[in-house]
Amino acid sequence: MPHVMLGGLVHEQATRLANRLAAALPDGLEHVFFSESGSVAVEVGMKIAVQHWLNQGISGRTRFLSFRHGYHGDTFAAMSVCDPEEGMHQLFGELVAGQLIVDVPHSAAELADFDKTVERHRDELAAVILEPLVQAAGGMKFHSSETLAAIAATASKHGVLLLLDEIATGFGRTGSLFACEQAGVSPDVIMLSKALTGGTLPLAATVASEEVYSVFLSDTFEHALMHGPTFAGNALACAAANASLTLFETEPRLEQVAVIEQRLAEGLAPCSGLEHVIDVRVKGATGVVQLDRVPDLDALREAFLDESVWIRPFNDVVYLMPPFVVSEDELEQLTRAVCRVVERWSRAPS
Ligand SMILES: *Cc1c(COP(=O)(O)O)cnc(C)c1O
Repeated sequence: MPHVMLGGLVHEQATRLANRLAAALPDGLEHVFFSESGSVAVEVGMKIAVQHWLNQGISGRTRFLSFRHGYHGDTFAAMSVCDPEEGMHQLFGELVAGQLIVDVPHSAAELADFDKTVERHRDELAAVILEPLVQAAGGMKFHSSETLAAIAATASKHGVLLLLDEIATGFGRTGSLFACEQAGVSPDVIMLSKALTGGTLPLAATVASEEVYSVFLSDTFEHALMHGPTFAGNALACAAANASLTLFETEPRLEQVAVIEQRLAEGLAPCSGLEHVIDVRVKGATGVVQLDRVPDLDALREAFLDESVWIRPFNDVVYLMPPFVVSEDELEQLTRAVCRVVERWSRAPS
């Protein structure tokens, strides 16, 4: 039972979880494919997008449009849609598929340009893939729900699928259960992992819309989605996810996120205005202090350890993504440590 792969055999924890996810997700996302990690969930989502066109007899739509500062995982297809620098595209050269990677459009002019780009490439694009509202590991960048809605509308207008990677944002991180809710967007495919099991066991889900699913429903074997990870729908992991969803139902998780958002904003505010700090931003239970240049990361990490906290800055950002059950005291200890360390560092002779 631990590795039946859901290949012709299913168990109660998996069906229960699939039904609960379909009920919790925005309307239209109904069909759940389980795997064991975020990167694999992205691989499956990309495979679904490409095969969605092939199954309809449409060839040539094999490329993806993704965004600078995006992060979608460490396997090769996932890497290809990551930020080119963060995704080590240079190092692996031609092994990494050439995707169309653009800046997240913010202004009306940028959105108009984005629309033209999608239109120009529509016949070769399988899908647009995006981390909605918060691009996490690729730079901790935020965009507005209006931007998300506009990107979704552009993809829809030009008949390109929309894949939303909510592996980092899903389950409350941005203030709503799923980030896409804030823009009223329901993508064609959504990817979930990380907090799916409350972060306790490896499990991921790629969830497709009824419309996408219907393209795979056929008597022809070749139309099937051929992907069968050994631990697909692992019963123990599904049980952990079901337990976590129950906690979301019985404990005030989203209220906790709202409180964390406020405390992060207050606690990190003293950083803005410090030398070398170019931005302080908070979205849900994520707080970011962006610096103007890359300090000695090891020294910075050491400085945090001296404050008795484990904070791992990367590139030019110091960030906090606390668990939702963090106490007010613990959170204050974290934001105080950030302010103290960044303040000391900003005053140090460079
Ligand atoms: C962490 C992450 C992934 C990769 O998940 P793994 O389980 O580490 O493979 C993909 N996308 C996003 C947005 C992530 O934050």
